[in-house]
Amino acid sequence: MRWPLLLALILATCAGCANTPATTAATTAAPASAAATSAAPAVGATSDRPLVILVSIDGFRPDYLDRGDTPTLAALAGAGVRAKSMQPAFPTLTFPNHYTLVTGLYPDHHGIINNRFRDPVSGAAFVFKDRDTTADPSWWGGEPIWITAQKQGLRTATMFWPGSDVAITGVRPDHWLYFDGSMTSDERVDHLLQWIDLPAARRPQFYTLYFDTVDHASHSHGPQSREVDAALREVDAAIARLVAGLRQRDLYRHTDLVIVSDHGGAQTSKALRTYLDEVVPLDDVKVDNYGVLATLSPRPGKTASVERALLKPHPHMQCWRKAQLPARLHYGSNPRLPAIVCVANTGGVITDRAYEQKRRFFSAGEHGYDNADPQMQALFIAHGPDFRSGLVVDAFPNVDVYPLLAHLLRITPAANDGDFATVAPMLRDARR
Ligand SMILES: [Zn+2]
Repeated sequence: MRWPLLLALILATCAGCANTPATTAATTAAPASAAATSAAPAVGATSDRPLVILVSIDGFRPDYLDRGDTPTLAALAGAGVRAKSMQPAFPTLTFPNHYTLVTGLYPDHHGIINNRFRDPVSGAAFVFKDRDTTADPSWWGGEPIWITAQKQGLRTATMFWPGSDVAITGVRPDHWLYFDGSMTSDERVDHLLQWIDLPAARRPQFYTLYFDTVDHASHSHGPQSREVDAALREVDAAIARLVAGLRQRDLYRHTDLVIVSDHGGAQTSKALRTYLDEVVPLDDVKVDNYGVLATLSPRPGKTASVERALLKPHPHMQCWRKAQLPARLHYGSNPRLPAIVCVANTGGVITDRAYEQKRRFFSAGEHGYDNADPQMQALFIAHGPDFRSGLVVDAFPNVDVYPLLAHLLRITPAANDGDFATVAPMLRDARR
């Protein structure tokens, strides 16, 4: 069932009910040594509940599996379930999609509508790399899976995930860390394994793990680069390390691994740039964002002329009034979105001359484009006791991951946009 969602849901989070974190360290120390490396019989709170590890490989396009760099992922896919692809939510950006994966809500409904945006009333800015701005829980609507799990008596641990360091409705995961890009892929795995080594009675049932190296390589060098190959090998080795750690603890057969990405990536071309200052007088608009997505509002009295200039066809981008975006994008109803949304054609970016001069950086790879574009599609692999073996399923939207996770954890999902019926055929036993 796809639940109708009200705008109120977005705004219902508890603004100000959580304290801004005062430290930059982990809130919960993991044990210093791996104490429980012997067979651990009590896996979760109940004996039939598996451990569930949600792994994100940022920017991993499903066809990367064919590059020969990822034998561990290939083996997991072969022995478990693989989707031909998974459709990200629009816009195909990191924060909106990571939060969709853990809430089952489209960005319009969970409120993280872009990596950067403004509150239309207060003017406050959300900037994804700025912890001071993202820490305000009122940005984050819906209920991430770690809160759903904790409300139902489970323990959770997040080895990085957008939103996991925020006290959403006053609640954080039991174990979490502020994002630290200097932490290597192997170190992230080792830290997760330390949480798994907590005594069985305190061991979390749900974990996240996040790798960003593939996306960085794609931005810097393009999706087809050798640097992406190297990043793929690094992440694959880290996942092999995770599998080995689980085997060593006799937990591999009790663990459901759900390995996803947030979006794909496409090679950019300077020839596909759109200079907004060549389309509309910049004094007539207030621009919130440039990039693959340009979001802007006409200045007072300029709506008609700005719309005339922007809504007509352009060679390398398309613009819509927010309410007239194609329904398949599930995007445009959130009040945080400015009046007009322009999306670059794949490979393009939207900028202006002065902005480009200031930024002095043109990335070789980008994402954020139409979520129907084959190059924007995401990865889905699942392996573990709940999943069938050797199954390849058709593409499905990433809002369905949240109800899948709830099923694996044997908990009741909060209202969401996903559809459990889509993912049920992956499971050995979809009843419960
Ligand atoms: Zn990303």
